[in-house]
Amino acid sequence: MCGIVGYIGHREASDVIIKGLKRLEYRGYDSAGIAISNGELQISKGKGKVAILEASLLATPIKGTLGIGHTRWATHGEPNDVNAHPHTGNTRKFAIVHNGIIENYDVLKKELQKNGCTFIGETDTEVLAHLIEEVQRVSKADFETSVQIALKQVVGTYGLAIVNHDEPDKLIIARKGSPLLLGIGDGETFVASDASPIIEYTNKVVYLDDDEMAVITRNGYEVKTIRNVKITKEIHELEMSIEQIEKGGYPHFMLKEINEQVDTISDCMRGRLQVKANDIKLGGIEPVLDKLVNARRILIAACGTSWHSGLVGEYLFEYLAKMPVEVEYASEFRYREPLIDDKDVLIVLSQSGETADTLAALREAKERGATVIGICNVVGSTIARETDAGVYIHAGPEIGVASTKAFTAQVTVLTMMAMKLGKMRGVLSEEKFHELAVALSEIPGKVKEILQQAEKVEEIAKMFTYAPNFLYLGRSYNFPVALEGALKLKEISYIHAEGYPAAEMKHGPIALIDEHMPVVVLAVTNHVNEKMISNIEEVRARKGRILSVTNERNTDVIRLSEFAITIPETHDCLTPLLTVIPLQLLSYYIAVNRKCHVDQPRNLAKSVTVE
Ligand code: GLU
Repeated sequence: MCGIVGYIGHREASDVIIKGLKRLEYRGYDSAGIAISNGELQISKGKGKVAILEASLLATPIKGTLGIGHTRWATHGEPNDVNAHPHTGNTRKFAIVHNGIIENYDVLKKELQKNGCTFIGETDTEVLAHLIEEVQRVSKADFETSVQIALKQVVGTYGLAIVNHDEPDKLIIARKGSPLLLGIGDGETFVASDASPIIEYTNKVVYLDDDEMAVITRNGYEVKTIRNVKITKEIHELEMSIEQIEKGGYPHFMLKEINEQVDTISDCMRGRLQVKANDIKLGGIEPVLDKLVNARRILIAACGTSWHSGLVGEYLFEYLAKMPVEVEYASEFRYREPLIDDKDVLIVLSQSGETADTLAALREAKERGATVIGICNVVGSTIARETDAGVYIHAGPEIGVASTKAFTAQVTVLTMMAMKLGKMRGVLSEEKFHELAVALSEIPGKVKEILQQAEKVEEIAKMFTYAPNFLYLGRSYNFPVALEGALKLKEISYIHAEGYPAAEMKHGPIALIDEHMPVVVLAVTNHVNEKMISNIEEVRARKGRILSVTNERNTDVIRLSEFAITIPETHDCLTPLLTVIPLQLLSYYIAVNRKCHVDQPRNLAKSVTVE
């Protein structure tokens, strides 16, 4: 999620905060705001870049030496002036900035509305501002205790910074699942969601852990748990450059984003996959669920990596929901005479939500009467606004041009949608649903296990750095992953690569195989395993070099492979979420070895807004 900066000391707080927010701009944001406490609680905020906020502060300065600031990456509510942080309650006593998602905001909001709170925006964060105010009104507790009582009622993730009109020399921060740290200066203290805004002032930092808060005054800081247990924290000395910090210590955004997938997949399921209740809740598509359940067929339109996740979606919807699906290249769809009408549902997938071809397909389908559902990462994007309903993937800003975490988050959303539909259509039993829900909830842990093998993949990459061509083979759910693996390699290492359904190899590409051809096979233990083994033999017979992604118990595949990367077992239909990880790593390391510009590959743009 996005950025927080806070300051208390002797400098002009707005200078420190604006400078800091600019350092956080690389994370992607849609609005920015600041609150300064100087006896008054003064707020300036709005949609758009930090530079816009800076200009308005130049025109109308807010003086003061204590303040908080935020760059928002919207999750709940359109990016606009009202939804920009900081947020306040009705009496404007507290101002709050927040990174993360308050999952139970709806329940809390209804309760607060009953007590007379009026909401002006749609964010989950505003609920928190009202809640703290309400807690204090009712309990008469002090600032700190009110924050603690309020946070105990909150389900979700947060990095928070709060200022209080009545205590102008105090700043409170709290963390659960969203990073926050303190920068310890000489008579001044800094707060930020990563170290990049702080590093130019001090290299002494204290990292908050989950369920911890810090009360910061002009005399220093005190860290305690939300349950009021005092903690002595270690002070770390940072030695990284600003650029290294922005990348979370990774050399490239792509590698950072590959590693983030443990969290992004769980963020995407959070509050939606309800294992105990044996259900899935996708609030954004509730209004069109009926339409979806009764649709004659589902069409999926997308481009590039999103098209590959759409293809995984086809297998998922057919298997789990027994619904007919067609996957379309968005660019082709609109230039045909697509036979689509009000009995059909079109799902469009786009990380940025701005992909021109996908947008055009969406408009074409809408014109023909179809219901359109969007699956996007960027909240408030054009596609998100123009669709009838949608599900956000909540993967956080993706900066590397080659998409990684957006792919796995899209597949996670499609899996949840297919399960939900299967259940509603009565074709997926409660038992099977439960089995899959448990398996899905275990995916992040399994991704983590695979990421621990990064060094092995790095070693393998060395062997293939100068290969001129690559072939990727997969069957069933892993055929789209073969396409995705090949695309990743093409995009960032400029090696020619083809992805194929394994059986298609003998209808053409087999002619390319010789002792110089690396063949990446995705061979998980499933109903097509035997067939996959035969394909491997066919490659070996022509001296092709086999690199397999497989399971430990798939001993035949391992024996037949020159290199094997093993992944944990899961349900067959969930394997794309795992098999893709080594392929992302492989292309990354090969590109690094070839000294390619990993995060900004030549000729490519992150968001393709031309047709
Ligand atoms: N959920 C909050 C919002 O939508 C915070 C988003 C963020 O992390 O920037 O406003």
